[in-house]
Amino acid sequence: MDVRDKLAILADAAKYDASCASSGSKSTRPGSKIGSTEGMGICHSYTPDGRCISLLKVLLTNYCIYDCQYCVNRISSDTPRARFSVDEVVSLTIEFYKRNYIEGLFLSSGIIQTSDYTMEQLISVAKKLRTEQHYGGYIHLKTIPNASQPLIEEAGMWADRLSVNIELPTEGDLHKLAPEKKKPEIVDAMQGIRQKIDETQDDQKAGLHPPSFAPAGQSTQMIVGATDTPDVEILKTAAQLYDGQNLRRVYYSAYSPIPHADARLPGQSPPLVREHRLYQADWLMRFYGFDASEIVAEADQNLSLDIDPKLAWALANRHFFPVDVNRASREELLRIPGIGARSVKRILSIRRHKTVRREDLKKLRVAWNRAKYFVSTADHNPELANLDKSDLRGRAQPKHKQLMLFDTRQSALTGEV
Ligand code: SF4
Repeated sequence: MDVRDKLAILADAAKYDASCASSGSKSTRPGSKIGSTEGMGICHSYTPDGRCISLLKVLLTNYCIYDCQYCVNRISSDTPRARFSVDEVVSLTIEFYKRNYIEGLFLSSGIIQTSDYTMEQLISVAKKLRTEQHYGGYIHLKTIPNASQPLIEEAGMWADRLSVNIELPTEGDLHKLAPEKKKPEIVDAMQGIRQKIDETQDDQKAGLHPPSFAPAGQSTQMIVGATDTPDVEILKTAAQLYDGQNLRRVYYSAYSPIPHADARLPGQSPPLVREHRLYQADWLMRFYGFDASEIVAEADQNLSLDIDPKLAWALANRHFFPVDVNRASREELLRIPGIGARSVKRILSIRRHKTVRREDLKKLRVAWNRAKYFVSTADHNPELANLDKSDLRGRAQPKHKQLMLFDTRQSALTGEV
């Protein structure tokens, strides 16, 4: 099998790993061989400073000795298999990098022989890129479950980001669908990475120059909808990982049905909007001071699919409102639907010089159609009269509209909900 064929298989197999913002482009000219990125695993990720970078996202191999039921690469699957050599991945990365196709590499793998052997192979790719090719681009390495701590520490010397996938939200889910994986072991691996990152940062603050260790931090992925675990449990697990392991990101990935799947798995993916609502709730936990257990307002413990979680919380907690934009604390302002973190910052700034009126909020480009039911301003706000009405949900619910690529991008960058 030539490298191009392997790339088609191993880039496609990597698309299930939600560790970046997009996967391979679908569009190409019929019959084209040059300039097409279809199926070749170019995806995009955001750096901590908000830049969007393109990554070559591949698996070293999709052979795997584990049998995780939700995974197309599990040992019992009859998917076509391929394996890159270390030198093939190094060469592909360098060739793509020199041509400016990519700014980084995202490398994961199925488990071959043992976890440590597989981890050593991933490390060899990163080490060769750094030491032999003098490659300065971004590297995200997936940490193999149960790999030993010295290997994880070595991986962090060459990679910008490490990630250990939590895979499923609860220990019971893992037990059911991925019995070889244990939540405590996964969390221990994250803890090992966190300790090393903390040590490195402490040494840097003390004026020392320790070797670099995963400077872009660590992340994880959680598959959503493979079991009936509700959103509140998913968010609690994410909150524990943010607090305990200081993760940069939790990626939520809607379960994709796979061929010949186990009967315990659902026959279809959850609606994609569920993923979107989880990302919105995730922003609320990280940047808006919400607690995992309070975000989910629906009786079935899942996020509402038709309204965003901040609006859902406001509707369920009307006693909290109206919030006076001229007197409220930052934390209170952040709870108003339609007013994002940037607008809160501007409100706090302008109210030092003048009282804030409705027109001021509109000029700040807050989502007035949602905010107007929940805020009091220096002038009269007639919409406040609707706050206690039973039809407020229908009034505040956004009318269906075509999603705009750039709205979504802005939201992804700013986190405004
Ligand atoms: S260990 Fe990873 S690649 Fe292997 S079956 Fe499980 S999820 Fe798939």
